[in-house]
Amino acid sequence: MIKFGPSGNCDLFYEQGYKSSLEAPLWIKNRGLNAYEYSFSRGFTMSEFTAKTLGEKCKENDIEISIHAPYYINLASPDPSKVEKSFNYIINSIKYLKILQGKRCVFHPGSCGDMDREEAFSLLRKNMKELVKRIEKENFDFEFLLCPETMGKSQQLGTYQEIGEICTYADYLIPTLDFGHINSLLQGKLKTESDFEEIFKFLIDKIGFNKVEKIHIHFSKIEYGKKGEIKHLTFDDKIYGPEFEPLARVIKKLKLNPVIISESRGTQAEDANQMKKIYESI
Ligand SMILES: [Zn+2]
Repeated sequence: MIKFGPSGNCDLFYEQGYKSSLEAPLWIKNRGLNAYEYSFSRGFTMSEFTAKTLGEKCKENDIEISIHAPYYINLASPDPSKVEKSFNYIINSIKYLKILQGKRCVFHPGSCGDMDREEAFSLLRKNMKELVKRIEKENFDFEFLLCPETMGKSQQLGTYQEIGEICTYADYLIPTLDFGHINSLLQGKLKTESDFEEIFKFLIDKIGFNKVEKIHIHFSKIEYGKKGEIKHLTFDDKIYGPEFEPLARVIKKLKLNPVIISESRGTQAEDANQMKKIYESI
C-alpha cells in the first residue's frame, strides 16, 4: 500500500502546542497520514529508550517509520578514516531502525570533493561493496531496506543513474528518489508524465520491478541555481517545481506502492496531505 507522511515535525505541530516527537505518530494518524521519517541528520541524539517508545507509538498508530542517517556520511571520501566512520554511521542507523521497528534507512552516499566525478564514483562503488560485507558480518535478524538518495547538488554523488547502479549490490538496497533534487540537477526539466516515467523505466531495467515497486520517495519543491539545489520550498511555490500530479499519474500507471515523504519547508504534513489528495483524485 502506498504511504504518505512528513519528514520530521512541521511548524503546525509546534504551533498547536506539541513538543515531543513521541506525540507525532498519533498527530500524523489524526491527519489521515501513515508514514513518518525521523532524521538523525546531526547524529544519534535520541536515547535507545526513547527510540523504543517512538517505535511502539508508531506501531500503535499504524505509522510506518523510516529514518534518515546522519549527514556526515561520505562513502567517496579519499580519507579511509572518514569512510570507516561512514560505515559506522550506517550500521548504527540500522541498529536504531531495529529499535524503532522501522524498515527503511535513507542516506546520502557522498560527494566528489576535489576529485573528478569518475574517480569519486569509483571510490563510492568500492566502498559500497565493502559496506555490504560489513553489514553481512553484523548478522542483522530483521528485514530492512537501505535507501541511498538521489542528490540535488552537482558536486554530490547520486544521480538516479548512479543510485541505480549501487543498488544492484544487495537485495536490501533500493533507491530514495528525491524528485526535488532530481529536478534541481536537471534545472527544472522534470515536468511531464514522461519525464518522470523515464526515471522509473531506467530503474526497472537496472534493478527490477520488485525493487522499484516499493521505492522510497522524497518530494518537495526546491529552489535551484546553476550548481543545483539551493533550498527546500513549500507547495506554494509556482516557479521551481516539480509538480506532484504527473508523478502521481506515473505511480498509478506503473502500479507502484512507494512510501512518499514530504520534505517541504515547514509544511511537511500539510503537503503530504496535499499529495495524498492529488493521488486519490486520479
Ligand atoms: Zn536526504
